[in-house]
Amino acid sequence: MMELSTALSAKFEKLQTSYPVKRSALIPMLMYAQDEFGCVSDEMIAEIGRRLDLNNVQVEETLAYYSMLHRKPWGKHHVQICTNVACMLKGGNELLERAKKRLEIGQKEVTADGVFSLEEVECIGACTGAPAMQVNYDFYENLTPLKFDRIIEDLDVGKHPAPEPVISGALHERHELETPLISRRWGMKDSHKIDVYLMQGGYKALEKALKEMTPESIIEEVKKSNLRGRGGAGFPTGMKWSFVPKDTPKPKYVICNADESEPGTCKDRPLMEMDPHQLIEGMVIAGRAISSHQGFIYIRGEYRYVLDIVDGALGEAYARGYLGKNILGTGFDFDLLAHTGAGAYECGEESALMESLEGKRGYPRIKPPFPAVVGLYGCPTIINNVETLSAVPSIIREGGDAYASRGTPKNGGTRMLCIAGHVNKPGIYEVRLGMNMKKFIYDVAGGIPDGKKLKAVIPGGSSCPLLAADEIDIPMDYDSVAKAGSMLGSGGMVIMDEDTCMVDMARRIMHFYAHESCGWCIPCREGTTWLRKTLERFHAGMGRVEDIDMIADLAKNMLGRTFCPLGDAAAMPTISIMKKWRNEFEDHLRGRCPYKSAGVLVGSR
Ligand code: SF4
Repeated sequence: MMELSTALSAKFEKLQTSYPVKRSALIPMLMYAQDEFGCVSDEMIAEIGRRLDLNNVQVEETLAYYSMLHRKPWGKHHVQICTNVACMLKGGNELLERAKKRLEIGQKEVTADGVFSLEEVECIGACTGAPAMQVNYDFYENLTPLKFDRIIEDLDVGKHPAPEPVISGALHERHELETPLISRRWGMKDSHKIDVYLMQGGYKALEKALKEMTPESIIEEVKKSNLRGRGGAGFPTGMKWSFVPKDTPKPKYVICNADESEPGTCKDRPLMEMDPHQLIEGMVIAGRAISSHQGFIYIRGEYRYVLDIVDGALGEAYARGYLGKNILGTGFDFDLLAHTGAGAYECGEESALMESLEGKRGYPRIKPPFPAVVGLYGCPTIINNVETLSAVPSIIREGGDAYASRGTPKNGGTRMLCIAGHVNKPGIYEVRLGMNMKKFIYDVAGGIPDGKKLKAVIPGGSSCPLLAADEIDIPMDYDSVAKAGSMLGSGGMVIMDEDTCMVDMARRIMHFYAHESCGWCIPCREGTTWLRKTLERFHAGMGRVEDIDMIADLAKNMLGRTFCPLGDAAAMPTISIMKKWRNEFEDHLRGRCPYKSAGVLVGSR
């Protein structure tokens, strides 16, 4: 029998009874065990399996899927450097090289004394503070070579350099063009605490929803608000809720998708960090709307400190009677649990997330049936993004029409936008849906540094087709950006100046999707791998003229031929880059990158 600490043992016991199906506790138990013992040992696999009625193979095959879970210990300080698009544009690759030299180790290696280990990682959700890294769970942002060296020196002598207290770029002087609604408490002292939330009128919307409204009238109000899903797809939220069957004997579930992993996107992190009660209130109202009595907040594993904040807020909400049995004396019951992921971009896809929440590998499910009918544990389920659910209290409080009036027709309300890369004021801003993109980039975010010209924009996360500088004079709402040939997506905007190598950008984007493909369908598994290799070769000056058409054809052939949207997500940015910056591929045929970008052959991991 393994010796567990009292705290871990208590955590295990709580987790074993927290879910409708025991196996759901598997990933959190593995994560907490790893935190205590440094890795997941054979003994721990057996122990967790015993507690969850699973055999060792079931535990091990699930564990192997998640990038944050490991069988061998890392160093005491696991240095994880992001080189994804926003960090790449701000020197992430150079930082990685510096780390390798300084620590004298390579990718996934541990120093001889066991103090440090190093890993190049995908987007950690710190894009507005790029370049960024995590050491264990701590975030360090806006790194310079000097800042990086100091952090390593401190760690080496046993000091703990203070991590960033709040994601960089969230707290800034409000611009007159901003319209803070769901971010209005950001920067207030103790904004994550229930007393501050209550003083600000918090939980009044829940009271209204429970005492004055019916489930149908809540859904009607959300429909009127024209709130569309903020996770990427932009599906109308009220309509999604109305698909949940009313006459089923099965339990129904509400899930908050807080697995924010789309490169360029980091707004759900501060929404939970600085206003967790707004999200909790939105989820209880959603529960009432579909007659659900259980919700889950699935938080990406890298956001451990956020999980702790949300857990604290849940405790407060239970203690004050906003969660649990007979909420506000109305007879309505709702339980809510924060659940940690363990590192898998694919789990941001709703059906993969449900598999993961059931304690399995995050493979997507074939749709239909859709989650509203057959979701978690085979029961009706709604899954919404953090930003979507955080908007619900405002809609109920002020009415759907008032909320809708902040946006444009069919695109109600405000939008959280992260802007990163080559821009003077990277940050997270809340603006009306429909604000002009060019105005946002230049007036709100301060334009391009050093007087350089704009070359390209990723408008809503790395899966969106890129827009060229002459395509951005458009309203930022779902329909207008779609008309311009791209997507508003998850609101993660990445800006590239005139010196950016677009071949390098295509290479880095494809590297990410090849890394994250779950491998289930051939066009995605083989397509992303081939494209990654070809783009790496091309950027390293070893491209062939015939590769140019081959890259474009391969990407087009992935479109619409995969089980989940990841195949499209990999293909769409590539197709747009090939179409708009083909000349840069031709330039690379002459042998070296004309933009002098590093051109590292990253290789597979
Ligand atoms: Fe997996 Fe890619 Fe297929 Fe999605 S598209 S199911 S990530 S192989």
